[in-house]
Amino acid sequence: MMNLDSKVPKGNLSEKWTNHKFNMKLVNPANKRKYDVIVVGTGLAGAGAAATLGELGYKVKAFTYHDSSRRAHSIAAQGGINAAKDYQNDGDSVYRLFYDTIKGGDFRSREANTFRLAEVSNNIIDQCVAQGVPFAREYGGTLANRSFGGAQVSRTFYARGETGQQLLLGAYSSLNRQIKLGNVEMYHRREMLDLVIVDGKAKGITVRNLITGEVESYAAQAVVLATGGYSNVFFLSTSAMMSNATAAWRAHKKGAAFANPCFTQIHPTCLPQHGEGQSKLVLMSESLRNDGRIWVPNIVGEKRPVNEIPESDRDYYLERRYPSFGNLAPRDISSRSAKYACDEGKGVNGGRSVYLDFADAIKRIGEPAVREKYGNLFEMYENITAENPYKVPMQIYPAPHYTMGGLWVDYNLMSSIPGLFVAGEANFSDHGANRLGASALMQGLADGYFVIPYTVGNYFGSEKPEKVDVKGTEFNAAKESVNESSNKLLSINGKQTVDDIHRKLGDLLIDKVGMSRDEAGLKEVITKISDLRDEFWNDVKVVGKSEDINLNLERAGRVADFLELGELMAVDALNRDESCGAHFREEHQTSEGEAIRNDDEFAYVAAWEFEKAGKWKLHKENLEFESVELATRSYK
Ligand SMILES: Cc1cc2nc3c(=O)[nH]c(=O)nc-3n(C[C@H](O)[C@H](O)[C@H](O)COP(=O)(O)OP(=O)(O)OC[C@H]3O[C@@H](n4cnc5c(N)ncnc54)[C@H](O)[C@@H]3O)c2cc1C
Repeated sequence: MMNLDSKVPKGNLSEKWTNHKFNMKLVNPANKRKYDVIVVGTGLAGAGAAATLGELGYKVKAFTYHDSSRRAHSIAAQGGINAAKDYQNDGDSVYRLFYDTIKGGDFRSREANTFRLAEVSNNIIDQCVAQGVPFAREYGGTLANRSFGGAQVSRTFYARGETGQQLLLGAYSSLNRQIKLGNVEMYHRREMLDLVIVDGKAKGITVRNLITGEVESYAAQAVVLATGGYSNVFFLSTSAMMSNATAAWRAHKKGAAFANPCFTQIHPTCLPQHGEGQSKLVLMSESLRNDGRIWVPNIVGEKRPVNEIPESDRDYYLERRYPSFGNLAPRDISSRSAKYACDEGKGVNGGRSVYLDFADAIKRIGEPAVREKYGNLFEMYENITAENPYKVPMQIYPAPHYTMGGLWVDYNLMSSIPGLFVAGEANFSDHGANRLGASALMQGLADGYFVIPYTVGNYFGSEKPEKVDVKGTEFNAAKESVNESSNKLLSINGKQTVDDIHRKLGDLLIDKVGMSRDEAGLKEVITKISDLRDEFWNDVKVVGKSEDINLNLERAGRVADFLELGELMAVDALNRDESCGAHFREEHQTSEGEAIRNDDEFAYVAAWEFEKAGKWKLHKENLEFESVELATRSYK
């Protein structure tokens, strides 16, 4: 029987975390070295967790499929990280950051987790500054801030357009210190392919050594997954090409509930798709919406060169429809608005892109000031498109970017499998149905530096999990099943490449489980994905052998998992018969096209238990709100 106790502590919202930390069982320093923890993933969440657990004295084994922990997808984050420091004196507070985040997620996240995120946000900035992260500063030396979507204060800390890289360098240095001290053993080029459970508790993992092909087992008394999100299920997304859901999915198949899989974020400011053969989409940071104005021509079929379209023939649709937040309306709303404008035929040249225009900002603050703020993003844009955004507006269009859904976790970030913790984008924890900009880095580092180290310690202190032998039956069975699955993939010898099938899956998902969804489309796509899965297992061609480097085999395993996850996304979207955040059901909208939530029936986390491919059991965790009123989200 699946246990979905959220373990939210009693008491006032603002005191829950402090009291919980006080009530936790501690492990005496001399005993900490007797406990082993496996951390899978060394992005911001994983590197933060591994370094901090190591610093505390636990014995950590950290795994990544990359050749260096520095290559995690976190490195791509551009715009910034939120914190409630209120350096701008503009009315920010921990409560306001909490409120913006829970409202931004359309009241579909757990109140206590979201509050804790806001509460520890300030510690993150202090920690990163102490590590030497070069955040942008004002002339007088204080840390600078800018604004991101869904907020009316400036609380985003940044390092030009490479915040993720700088934060990851900080976490990576801390991790390396622990590797040098012998507290963390680092395993590169290892892909986790199974979770090992002994007596109902997570006790280890099975990995494939991506260089030799050997399948290896590792044991520990707790396992932390910090393996990132699943946007690449859409084939085209802004995620790093290697990002995938396999670790989380294999844990799901071993009993970890998967929560709210249909909550996926399509980011409004990406470069439009250019052709059929494209394999990646590129994000232009949301920070650009601080100064860039978004518009489309008023006239369907407008053919004039952009700089010749007069003001009177332009529709600044976000400023018009959402005057309070304007171009900084949240991502779900901005993306849908762009889609609708293009559906009406008002996209650039009638196609699927809208303008992001800096002409006014350049007039107002001058080109050097714009260059200072966004220079590297403008350069990147020009390198890719061969157009100079200082002279002509950028063209942007929404693209899959982030996944709010993920493995279900309780307040301690422990999954429904005892001893299995999940951190960062891989869990479903804090963002509800829509994530606000600059909040993913905050969550990854909050989980890694400030939550997991406490809650894993509490698990050890209270449960005292036994050590297990890596040669035990469960480990051997997991190894066998990984080998079997590789051999099966290699033996199909069909006609389609792994990418052919992945692209088909992506097309189905973006069409029917993308920016808007409806019942008929979801029912249709569930059948089509199930058929596509059969097509994959009968007609895919995976070349090479398993005892060697084999990128084709790696990708095949990941796409096999995406084919199951994609179906669950559609099943979840069909079940959630309301519109909320990024989950927009066409059937539930106002006459102005705004989402209509159904709090009476759907104020719950949908946590799915795996029964077999294509069959899941739904469990509901009701969301209780003690501090906020479930208002209709309005950015007007
Ligand atoms: C282009 C872009 C820009 C962004 N900009 C911002 C921003 O400005 N602000 C913000 O807040 N957020 C931003 N985000 C979102 C943010 O970057 C991510 O949500 C966050 O970095 C995820 O961190 P993570 O540690 O959870 O996972 P990741 O950084 O994705 O790390 C996952 C780790 O898990 C490992 N791994 C995965 N599976 C396995 C496996 N099976 N076996 C072994 N290892 C495995 C990988 O090797 C990697 O080390 C951006 C995202 C993108 C795509």
